[in-house]
Amino acid sequence: MLKSPACPIIALEEHYWDAELAALFTGLDAGAPPALAGRLRDTGAARLADMDAAGIDIQVLSHTAPSLQKIAAADAPALARRVNDRLAAIVATQPARYAGFAALPTSDPAAAADELARCVETLGFKGAMIHGLAEGHFIDEERYWPIFARAEALDVPIYLHPAIPHPDVIEAYYKEYAKDYPVLLRAAWGYTVEAATQAIRLVLSGVFEKHTKLKFILGHLGEGLPFLLWRINNGLARPGQKPVAFRELFSRHFWITTSGFFSDPALLLCVQEMGIDRILFAVDYPFEANAPGPAWLQTVPLCDEDKAKIASGNAKRLLRM
Ligand code: MN
Repeated sequence: MLKSPACPIIALEEHYWDAELAALFTGLDAGAPPALAGRLRDTGAARLADMDAAGIDIQVLSHTAPSLQKIAAADAPALARRVNDRLAAIVATQPARYAGFAALPTSDPAAAADELARCVETLGFKGAMIHGLAEGHFIDEERYWPIFARAEALDVPIYLHPAIPHPDVIEAYYKEYAKDYPVLLRAAWGYTVEAATQAIRLVLSGVFEKHTKLKFILGHLGEGLPFLLWRINNGLARPGQKPVAFRELFSRHFWITTSGFFSDPALLLCVQEMGIDRILFAVDYPFEANAPGPAWLQTVPLCDEDKAKIASGNAKRLLRM
């Protein structure tokens, strides 16, 4: 609970590992330091005790990156059903403390759309999470739109989570620094660019003209896009561009969370650009510790009504919890 105002805290970007899926991760996606791996595997007493100590009432659980996004079409749909059934079983152990975002087999978009429907209608999940590129492809490509059509019909959001950048990007942009600063590819910068590009491409793709009620969530206070919104919109309005109402479309179709980004000035900028109703609490557990998030939210320079919206009010509305 948030102490003042007294209200529940729902955290939206909280990760775990499915043993069968995580065992398939290779290269930079594989493994984790032992303490982190232990926290990813644990969905029992230790996780709940850590939530209790931090005052987090509900975690919406999602698989960690890259989830199913690099699993080929021959295997992904059946694996997705097993992964999501196991997540549903975890949620069922603590229905008052856990909720779920589906993992989607994006390599087979029709199957992914069906799996999303199954997860929402049968398993009670709140939406889905997609991590970075799908087998090297941005998900604004039209072959993925059946997934978005289904999300719109089900009225559930899709959380766009970052993943390790494309290998060509690592080679061209980061390789000299990746050894000494492995997190440069990840939370420090690479993730941000990858996820922000994904969101920008979705706006430019025309998917929101076709699916006018589609909802996406971005973590990490919108991956920098709220700060850049004026400039992106201004640039795209220059002569010689195909017309696009970038700012309006982004503001209409995207919600953002506080995952791994507990900064007063960054939050206040997001409130000014996006509006308080579009900002939801998240930690990014276990990559970030639980305790600092609620402690920070308690102190942010916003009124009680706004704090309560971020803590859980907006999540209750968006995820119908
Ligand atoms: Mn995350």
